[in-house]
Amino acid sequence: MKDPLPSIDLLSDAGEAAGHLAALSEKDFREARAARLVGVQRVLEETGTDALVLSLGADLPWLTGYEAMPLERLTALVVARGETPVLFVPELEAPRVRPDDGLFSLKPWAEGSDPYELVADLLGKAASVAVSDRMWATALLEIQRRSPRAAYSAASSLLAPLRGQKDAVELLLLARAAHITDIVAEEILAGEVPLLGKPEREVSADISARLVAHGLQRVNFAIVGSGPNSASPHHEPGARVISAGDPVVLDFGGVFALGEEPGYCSDTTRTVVVERIPDGFVELYHALHVAQVAARREASSAISGASLDAIARDAIGAAGFGRYFIHRTGHGIGLEEHEEPYVASGNHLPLGPYAAFSIEPGIYIPGRFGARIEDICVTGEHHAVSLNRSSRDMTIV
Ligand code: ZN
Ligand code: ZN
Ligand code: ZN
Repeated sequence: MKDPLPSIDLLSDAGEAAGHLAALSEKDFREARAARLVGVQRVLEETGTDALVLSLGADLPWLTGYEAMPLERLTALVVARGETPVLFVPELEAPRVRPDDGLFSLKPWAEGSDPYELVADLLGKAASVAVSDRMWATALLEIQRRSPRAAYSAASSLLAPLRGQKDAVELLLLARAAHITDIVAEEILAGEVPLLGKPEREVSADISARLVAHGLQRVNFAIVGSGPNSASPHHEPGARVISAGDPVVLDFGGVFALGEEPGYCSDTTRTVVVERIPDGFVELYHALHVAQVAARREASSAISGASLDAIARDAIGAAGFGRYFIHRTGHGIGLEEHEEPYVASGNHLPLGPYAAFSIEPGIYIPGRFGARIEDICVTGEHHAVSLNRSSRDMTIV
């Protein structure tokens, strides 16, 4: 494949990455999609799959730039092997589609007509059909009823390896999303975001507002877990008032989008302590920091998700905190907050070049406190870089 970028190292330089992003034209986005379609057709060929039907979910915007609203009305991109894809959309949604004749033909269907007949006509005698993982079950049942002889499979088994290898456009969008998110992380670490005496919920709203003010289009989540709540990895920020001596886990991210292009996600976690360090926390944080650094250092295109997970897990285990690390080390990220590849014990495939994923070990002692450090990393042909650059040192605010 051709190198997506002169070097992935430029992704961790906010200014340089922004310059490359600003230089992208509409043509670059279209060419990226055209290249993705070539990859999809190649996979259909290689796997002997007759057709792919995409509906809700991220596969469709990845391939066409169009994201379907979660309506009950059918949206379906039918990609028959060797043919130009056809995008069926409800007529009322058609104005939202940016047509691209080189890539797909657009077929709006009128209210009252049967879009499933149109899909069935196109599928014809297809014997194997891969469908979006996120397609409504009701839509799949209608499709199966009309083409009962085909064997159906999940599109992710074909597309995850393609979507897992980001192109230059995607990497630059991910870098921008990460850099914007870092600005807020740095504000927190600098003590500019008031924590002491504030309810978690209010801090979460403050972080969300800052993410948008700095340029994210949308916030996906802003977890604020203080004191004993820091031991709950996906804590829902609530009424608890943050006090001196609290560790606070702050995990937040959202979507950066350029114009009408589909947006890419960010996700970072920093853990701070307020005013003073509680007993026993230094040891915990140090063990976590060592593990996170080790995993980032060993991240590469060649290592498997399972091996990378083991590096973080072994380091935390060696420090005696093994049973308090209760989740996988990371997840892929892109159009979706969580996508393949997973940095987890079950993933024995190499991460591959140009993969984007989180490295986010955590240590959680129930009833007491916890901590997590999370960065989004990208692999090049060999080594990996972190898109997130804010300090991971033990910080008292
Ligand atoms: Zn999560
Ligand atoms: Zn996160
Ligand atoms: Zn994450």
